[in-house]
Amino acid sequence: KVVVRGLRKAFGDNVVLESIDLEIRTGEVVCVIGPSGSGKSTLLRCLNRLEDITGGTVIVDGFDVSDPKIDIDHVRRHIGMVFQHFNLFPHMTAIENVMLAPVETGTADKAEARRRAIEQLTQVGLADKADAKPDNLSGGQKQRVAIARALAMKPDIMLFDEATSALDPEVVGDVLQVLRDLAKAGMTMVVVTHEMGFAREVSDRVVFMADGYIVEEGTPEQIFDHPQQQRTQDFLSKVL
Ligand code: ATP
Ligand code: MG
Repeated sequence: KVVVRGLRKAFGDNVVLESIDLEIRTGEVVCVIGPSGSGKSTLLRCLNRLEDITGGTVIVDGFDVSDPKIDIDHVRRHIGMVFQHFNLFPHMTAIENVMLAPVETGTADKAEARRRAIEQLTQVGLADKADAKPDNLSGGQKQRVAIARALAMKPDIMLFDEATSALDPEVVGDVLQVLRDLAKAGMTMVVVTHEMGFAREVSDRVVFMADGYIVEEGTPEQIFDHPQQQRTQDFLSKVL
């Protein structure tokens, strides 16, 4: 469960998030949509303190991420994150990439990490690519390895920042299917996406952001079929 209260984020004088209140319940899938520069990535990055928070509080699974004294590495182990660019280690095979964090953090020995990695690669449909290097995988396959790698830490929550934006159109569906399966399995997910069809289909809740604010949030039906705010209507009329 995530609770964000009065979150503010500024880069110097540039305020990019203001008065953000957001709650994500366990098992909920929340899609964040909005125009470029509205602060979607920054919001996600504040949830695991990849960005320092200027004001307000962020509580993840009872841990106060905004508290400078907290052991943030410990908190991050519970939060999986997948970016647009997968950042796999090129000299390691798929399975080695997936095994790395559990072994390095000491949460599993090698044998256990390998067993789990096979499980995670199977979950994303890539058991047969375990020994392939990233260079020999398609963009969609690389992204699925990146998801398996995040799952290997057994996170309580997964954050996705435009996980399909850099992919060729024909492999986007494979990656979205993995997200869909995760959602069905009850994973708590925050998904920043430009895929409106996907957002409508899998979200429990859709959050529309613009200019650093949450303009409007609601069920997919509320946001896509009956948006209340002019700003939301304008955005949707451009992207739908
Ligand atoms: P997009 O859809 O293009 O990914 P976004 O909604 O994810 O956009 P952010 O990346 O969160 O938007 O950026 C929000 C604002 O914060 C932008 O004005 C951006 O220029 C600014 N910003 C983001 N990161 C930094 C940084 N490290 N330093 C300074 N300004 C930043
Ligand atoms: Mg972004």
